Parts: sequence; structure tokens; C-alpha cells
Amino acid sequence: MTDYYQTLGVPRDASAEQIKKAYRKLARELHPDVAGEEAADKFKDVARAYEVLGNAEKRRTYDSGSDPSSLNGGGGGGAGGFGFQDIFETFFGGGGGQQRGPVPRARRGQDALVRLDIDLSEAAFGTRRELKVETAVVCGTCSGSCCAPGSSPRQCEVCGGQGMVQRVARSFLGQVMTSVPCSACQGFGTVIPEPCSDCAGEGRVRSKRTLSVEVPAGVDTGTRIKMTAQGEVGPAGGPAGDIYVEIREKRHETFIRRGDDLLCNLEVPMTAAALGTSIDLETLDGVQQIDLPAGTQPGEIVTLKNLGIGHLRMDGRGDLLVQVDVRVPTGLDARQEELLRDLAEVRNEERPEAKMASAHSGAP
Ligand SMILES: [Zn+2]
Ligand SMILES: [Zn+2]
Repeated sequence: MTDYYQTLGVPRDASAEQIKKAYRKLARELHPDVAGEEAADKFKDVARAYEVLGNAEKRRTYDSGSDPSSLNGGGGGGAGGFGFQDIFETFFGGGGGQQRGPVPRARRGQDALVRLDIDLSEAAFGTRRELKVETAVVCGTCSGSCCAPGSSPRQCEVCGGQGMVQRVARSFLGQVMTSVPCSACQGFGTVIPEPCSDCAGEGRVRSKRTLSVEVPAGVDTGTRIKMTAQGEVGPAGGPAGDIYVEIREKRHETFIRRGDDLLCNLEVPMTAAALGTSIDLETLDGVQQIDLPAGTQPGEIVTLKNLGIGHLRMDGRGDLLVQVDVRVPTGLDARQEELLRDLAEVRNEERPEAKMASAHSGAP
């Protein structure tokens, strides 16, 4: 006689709960969809063992020395007698969270993504923008019920309001009954005899709306702002989805953004760099005066504190970094050339010695 306890891997004094658990675990592991058809025989052994040990009366009979399995003797018994409820639940997920009965007609609307182009100063300081969207709103005629005024949903005659119908499926175990959504009512359990004509029975209609979007300082390309429940209303007037506004920052002609800092180049004449000067620079905060000391070198960076982008949802701002470019004069006329030659002579720089700087340092 087959040792059913061994087949299920449980001790002889196992509780009914232990046996059930062991069986379910094995049945899942050996399911042909998981383990392939090769496991079918093993699975049948497990099913047979459980048919006996999972039933108190049969287990007593088995323990007293005879095998009550209805699957023994091959073919004749079919699948009729044995623990079908459990096989069912194992395979088709009954009680395991699968939808049973009618599904609600109203469903949540989908989320949507909308792009919003902003310029650099809007990113620096934050802004409020109006955004036109086309989306679905609850149908005003039927208030989302989908029914023409004066009518109401009717129970589906095909499934009797269950939303599911039984279907016979064939498997290696023989014929099994399984539930599938009712096609007459799409699983809702009700049908709409007179659909609302304004929304074609959808419970929602398309509409243009204007959203007011609060864009905080510090947003960057790719930042998404969530607007809860501002999206489309779901079918049958279901809850609205969310709108995500994705920011795209337009290129600025002067400033490059690096994190919350801004970079720009400032070109100054050689003489101004040598003698020192003050220059007006147009920043996001208006004109700022930059003082360059005498002897400012090419590539030097002047930092203007707190003139960059506002930190996202935090106090403070980044800096504005101004890199100095020194313009060497070209197209010298005779007098200018003479002046420069005089300067070179005075500074003894007519034939300067090569002063090599390390290529590894000083790179900005
Ligand atoms: Zn309607
Ligand atoms: Zn139905």
C-alpha cells in the first residue's frame, strides 16, 4: 500500500491543517503549468494521498490498513469522488483573492502626463501657470449612472446578476468547472437597457478644462508635479485619476544651469582685465555690477552668491558663477601697435621666456 504520509511529507500524527498545508504547497509546486507535464504523475499521487488523508473518515480507514482511494483501480472512478474543492481552490484561486461575483461598473480614471515648458527664471523663482487639458468629466445628464433619465440598470439575465458564468474546461484531471466573466454584461452583473444619449452610456463626457499649476522654485527638466484627482473621471463616473505635469526647461541664451547654480561667460577686453573695471551684467535678478580687480586672468570665476536657482522646497538659492574671458585685441592700427610695443619693451616682454605650466593643474 502506498505511504500517503510520505507522499505528502507529513508525520503520521499530522493535524488536518498540516496535511492541508502540505498538500497545497505540493500541488502548487507540481502544477503542470509550473512543473511541466512530467510532473503530472507525481501530482496525481499527491492528489490521491490528499483525497484520503484530507478526509477524516478515509484517513481512519487508511490508518486501519485498507486503501479507500477512489482513484485506485484506474479509470473507472474518474475524478468524481475526491477532494475537488481543494484542487479547485489550489488551481483556480478560489478564495485566494480572485474576483468573484460582479465587478463594479465604476472604475478609477487613468492618470495622465502633461508637459509644461518653462523658462529659466520661472525655474529660479517658481511660478503659477494655467494649463489647458482635455479630459473626461462626469456626465451631467446621468450623473455617471450611464442610464437615460428615468431608466435604471437591470439585472443581467444571462448570469443572474453574478457577473460570472460557469464553464466546463478539460484538463488532465478530467472535466472541471471554472468561472469566467459573463460576456452579456461584461461581468458587471447588470445591463443598461437605455443608455444615456449624452455620454453613450459611458457615464462621462470629454471636456476642456483649465488647470492652475503651482510650479515651485527649483524644478528642473523631468520634475513631475502631481495634481491629485485632476485627471479624467473613470468609466461610469468613477474616481478621477491624477495628472502629472512634467517640467521641461527651455534653454537660456546666456546661462547654463548646473544643479541650482548658473554659469555664464563674460568677455572683457585685455586692457580692462589688466587695469581692473566694473561691468554691468544682466542677471535673473536684474542688472548687477561686477567688479573685476586689476590683473584678472582668463578663466577666473567670479561668484555672485544667491543669484542662482531657488532650491526645490527648501530655503536658499544657488550661485551665479561668471567666468571671465579676456579678449586679445586684433586689427591694431599703427598707434595702438606702437603703444603695445612700448608696453612690451617697458615690461621686457618682447621675447618672453617660455613659462610652461603643468597641464594637470589649473583646468577649470
Ligand atoms: Zn450620461
Ligand atoms: Zn451577465
